[in-house]
Amino acid sequence: MSEKIERIKTLILGSGPAGYTAAIYAARADLKPIMYTGMEPGGQLTTTTEVDNFPGYPEGIDGPTMMVQLQQQAERFGTEVRIGMATSVDFSDEIGGIHKVTIDDAKVVEAETVIISTGATAKYLGIPSEQRLRGGGVSACAVCDGFFYKGQDVAIVGGGDTAAEEASYLANICRKVTMLVRKDHMRASKAMQHRVNSLENIELRYNSEVDEVLGEQVVEGLRIVNNQTGEKDEIAITGFFVAIGHKPNTDIFVGQLEMDDTGYLITHGKSTKTSKPGVFASGDVQDKEYRQAVTAAGTGCMAALDAERYLATIEAPEEVS
Ligand code: NDP
Repeated sequence: MSEKIERIKTLILGSGPAGYTAAIYAARADLKPIMYTGMEPGGQLTTTTEVDNFPGYPEGIDGPTMMVQLQQQAERFGTEVRIGMATSVDFSDEIGGIHKVTIDDAKVVEAETVIISTGATAKYLGIPSEQRLRGGGVSACAVCDGFFYKGQDVAIVGGGDTAAEEASYLANICRKVTMLVRKDHMRASKAMQHRVNSLENIELRYNSEVDEVLGEQVVEGLRIVNNQTGEKDEIAITGFFVAIGHKPNTDIFVGQLEMDDTGYLITHGKSTKTSKPGVFASGDVQDKEYRQAVTAAGTGCMAALDAERYLATIEAPEEVS
């Protein structure tokens, strides 16, 4: 570990819509934010093609372009965006305390406030054909990509609330939705199960798993295996949606911040306050329910406002460079 230590007012971890919106607000409030982008600069949206549901883009925008523009907007007000990954943290329990964040195991940043926007990562099945066709008809976000399969036949895998909700969403757009549930029952709430069962164009297949996603360049079908009988069959589809859960990127905060039993950071009341004073969380890292770019951006704004108010209430800190 090098001896390099830097003291700042506001450190932002993560560079998705939450992080950049926090940066825009924090920079405009003169908090001189420094952002570390994390492993995937731009976040999950950089893996999306077209974003059609972010307000203000009547023609839609592709995910990577949108993230570049958000970065430019954040930099315009003085945010310093750095490539780097927080590898460990030591958050203070004291109001007005200094939080230490180690970047790339090499450098320590000391910050009065930290905004965590490290996001979540969609889980995939992990089979080679699924990985090969990501962006070619395989998606982990029906709300983002479902529209491209309007009037077509699609399939979705998963039996939780997300899968049920996304299957219902797809059923409104697509001709037929085949939903694969690996057990003989769904984990989703009764209300969501009822919704799925009430839609005529959803075919539920229990004890069913994906053997292979078919197609060379784009998805053309699915080979399904019944895990009770071993029987296999194929269906023709153009879109394949994976809805088997997300993993919030919170490993480095274990033991430092309160989390729920699936690792999402807990924020208090309607705020972005975490269990440590001066540490705030925004975006998917604290939201397993909505997970939209626009809701992430909204909570990023909230985190910057919360940080600004927190700094205003603590006693004048020692000089900040
Ligand atoms: P969950 O972890 O609840 O469900 C994941 C589903 O995917 C389960 O049915 C699981 O099967 C299945 N699964 C996992 N791995 C595989 C695999 N390799 N192959 C096939 N199937 C697999 O995740 P969700 O994203 O659905 O929900 C996360 C949380 O968010 C939950 O607490 C949920 O209630 C909440 N939520 C609430 C919403 C709302 O209130 N409107 C909307 C969306 C989510 P198995 O059951 O066999 O383990």
